[in-house]
Amino acid sequence: MKFGGTSMAGTERIRRVANIVRKQAAGGNEVAVVVSAMAGETDRLVNFCREANPIYDPAEYDVVVASGEQVTSGLLALTLQALGCRARSWLGWQMPIRTIEAHAKARVEDIDSEALLASMKAGEIAVIPGFQGVSHEGRVTTLGRGGSDTSAVAVAAAIGADRCDIYTDVDGVYTTDPRIVAKARKLKAVTYEEMLELASVGAKVLQTRSVGLAMKEGVRVQVLSSFIGDDAVPADEIPGTMIVSEEEMEALLEKGEMERQLVTGIAHDKNEAKVILTRVPDRPGAVAHIFEPLAQASINVDMIIQNVGRDKGETDVTFTVPQADLARAQALLEDRRDEIGFNRIITDSKIAKISVVGVGMKSHAGVASTMFKALAERGINIQAISTSEIKVSVLIDEDETELAVRVLHTAYGLDASDGE
Ligand code: ASP
Ligand code: MG
Repeated sequence: MKFGGTSMAGTERIRRVANIVRKQAAGGNEVAVVVSAMAGETDRLVNFCREANPIYDPAEYDVVVASGEQVTSGLLALTLQALGCRARSWLGWQMPIRTIEAHAKARVEDIDSEALLASMKAGEIAVIPGFQGVSHEGRVTTLGRGGSDTSAVAVAAAIGADRCDIYTDVDGVYTTDPRIVAKARKLKAVTYEEMLELASVGAKVLQTRSVGLAMKEGVRVQVLSSFIGDDAVPADEIPGTMIVSEEEMEALLEKGEMERQLVTGIAHDKNEAKVILTRVPDRPGAVAHIFEPLAQASINVDMIIQNVGRDKGETDVTFTVPQADLARAQALLEDRRDEIGFNRIITDSKIAKISVVGVGMKSHAGVASTMFKALAERGINIQAISTSEIKVSVLIDEDETELAVRVLHTAYGLDASDGE
């Protein structure tokens, strides 16, 4: 079981969490619980680091930010004990959860689950702070923002859990953001691949890396709400959304438990910015000159479009980067203006990326054209397009995000009928 920051924010909420955990244990399950820091706490700690030293050492940053989860894991263990359960916390270095050295963005390498399993077998509920691990040097590391989802999946894989239930402030994965489309529907199941695409294009339910890890390790993940009453459907009856393999999805479709759809979900992401370099020389090596410095600075480039060359052996190159990295990217490119040989650099952070995702499009034509037509009918201009086997993304004006999402939700027949 994993509980996010909103579910852990304060003693009252931790008590609700403890009750949910107690019920699972009382139902005959051996339980390990991974927790996040209280909502807002990690941001607060990050700010302290910035105030202390604007160019902070990531190793000491990790010492500071990992503390949020240490607090909640201890508090949950205490609360479970107050309810009469046997509970024990396991910090990252105690288990240990070994990670690579990369402070502030470490990856889990190996989890020693032996002592943990023995304690669970003996009837103790294990409480594990998410987000943190330990390096080979024995220093505290953290897994990057949102990393406790990944901690949960990694622990589930290490102990061979039947299921990894991720309790959060939404009750599952929806066809799109329900705050934008009232007729969005909760999905019973999505495939790993779909969830991976949805998470990476702005559906913020799970950290992207946790989905990749679940897929690789075959961990069965359920997303469900922690804000439930005493009469709630038990987690074992799968009230949330299951993230499953394609084979398992096929079985659900055959049994009629899921409806076959061309598109499973629609996501939006307002955190990207667009960069256009004009009149770049149209010759081998030109784009390599553009993207090499960005890669070296760990700036993630997403969409890339190179226009057809103009007559004078020149072309325009358009791409997107995270908004937070725009200033850095711009400075890096300006520095290399002569080397790259562009004329102008034009940037725009008032853009949004809208993506339609679904394994159904692997075997069906026309998904992209439905998207383009639906947007055109509303006069929404498409600035860039990119596709993968199960995704079509377009870049549009940020102000048109909500309209685009609504229009597409209807166009792909995803709107819930009344009463659903
Ligand atoms: N507390 C960490 C963060 O806010 C990790 C997590 O909650 O997943 O990023
Ligand atoms: Mg989270």
